[in-house]
Amino acid sequence: MKKPTFRAALAASALIGLAVPAIPAAFAAPVAADTPITEAELAAHIRVLASDAFEGRAPGTAGEDRTIAYIAGEWARAGLEPVKGSDTPWLQPVPLVESRSLGGEAQFRAKGRAIRLDPQGLLLNSRDAEASLDNLPVMFVGYGVDAEGNVTADVAGKAAIMFFENPPYGKDLPRYRERRRMLAEAGAKAVLVVAPEALGWERLRGAMSAASIERVQESGEPAISGFLSQAAADTLFKQAGFAVDPLRQAASDPGYRGAALPLTADLSARTEVRAFDSHNVIARLPGANPDGKAVLFLGHWDHLGLCAPEGAADRICNGAVDNASGIAVLIEVAKRLAKGPRPDRDIYFLATTAEEKGLLGAYHFADHPAVPLSDITVALNLDTVAISPRGTPVATIGRGRPAHDALVTEVATRLGRKIDSDGEADPFVQRQDGWALGAKGVASLMVGGSFSDMALLEAFLGDDYHGPGDEFSDKIPLGGAAEDADLHVALGRAFADKQRWPGTGD
Ligand SMILES: [Zn+2]
Repeated sequence: MKKPTFRAALAASALIGLAVPAIPAAFAAPVAADTPITEAELAAHIRVLASDAFEGRAPGTAGEDRTIAYIAGEWARAGLEPVKGSDTPWLQPVPLVESRSLGGEAQFRAKGRAIRLDPQGLLLNSRDAEASLDNLPVMFVGYGVDAEGNVTADVAGKAAIMFFENPPYGKDLPRYRERRRMLAEAGAKAVLVVAPEALGWERLRGAMSAASIERVQESGEPAISGFLSQAAADTLFKQAGFAVDPLRQAASDPGYRGAALPLTADLSARTEVRAFDSHNVIARLPGANPDGKAVLFLGHWDHLGLCAPEGAADRICNGAVDNASGIAVLIEVAKRLAKGPRPDRDIYFLATTAEEKGLLGAYHFADHPAVPLSDITVALNLDTVAISPRGTPVATIGRGRPAHDALVTEVATRLGRKIDSDGEADPFVQRQDGWALGAKGVASLMVGGSFSDMALLEAFLGDDYHGPGDEFSDKIPLGGAAEDADLHVALGRAFADKQRWPGTGD
């Protein structure tokens, strides 16, 4: 028999006519503190989410179905609600397209004369199943954007050649995929990215011929995109009559507007394309005293699925640390916040899909938010949290808003945590879902111990990370994750409290 809940007991006493005595204020229990989140509670979720039955949680697989059902189930049991007015309660469809390059061909000409280019130095991909573009003018665009993040080169109708690396100027400028998309929006028919040697050409070739997943674009990808090896790019520059080093040098000027190369390109490519929907999971804890502002917790549920070739002893990348651990924390944080005194403001919980494919679910949410982005007073991302033991100081990725930083410091200090503000982990800011929201102006933070001790983080990244070895075991350090979970309960309470956080921001 089920143990009756307090609410059921109340209803029963009313039915049999017993008055429920009001509790005099003086005798009311003090507001109970949130019960600490334990390693065992987190382990229980990670064990399930990272089990082989979930097949590594790849978007668009049976593993996705199990994962999103588990998360929505846990959040429903915690007392969260689906977002109002949703056609697909708990779930936000994220249209994705899986494509596999079948290869392509290129012929460049200088003044009509064919240029001999090592075909091994070029990888091509079409947006649609097939594309063929003839006689495109060719433009070198440096990094593609100026220091303000705008495309200034005239690329309309052209093939643009762009550097892969982040621009050496400006701040928080978009990465190459986004810059490629911006060039397409500016009218480029094709974008060829010059791959630095450090990227590893063979690795890149492998990645291109493997299936890749992207969002179905509401705005354009170029009809043909691809990579040029450093050597192939240099050959083209030389054949166009440019000295290579000065051309590369010129591009590092933030005001560089590109150079038309006296070349034409005939490009063709074929691609196998499959469209499908994956899903973000979204839930809401309604505030007791809402003022239109909201707190957003997020973490990605997806991982890499079957990641080793057929015949390998273990084919599944289970993603226990990355990021079953973050989802486990989100589930337990939801339970504590729903159970204790109800915060003033609405608190949203978002489990994103396809983070591993380039923050795709987070970008989709940012374009189609369940709550207006301007109402989100803080977004707190949880990713790869099971790295450190108890007692690890708290670092924040996304620091720089004084009022937010001060509240995080106050809350963490009150819990007895030390603060690490050396900024060592800042380079990770683009490698996590919060980036997609931060790019649209949301105060987006990743707070906790995992990004404080670089030696521990690097040890994980250099070993089990993104391999079949990231699986559940008793050896995963969950002490730091449990502490970070408690910290997030407290942060949720602080940022959702109208007194403590008026939300005027900074
Ligand atoms: Zn990952």
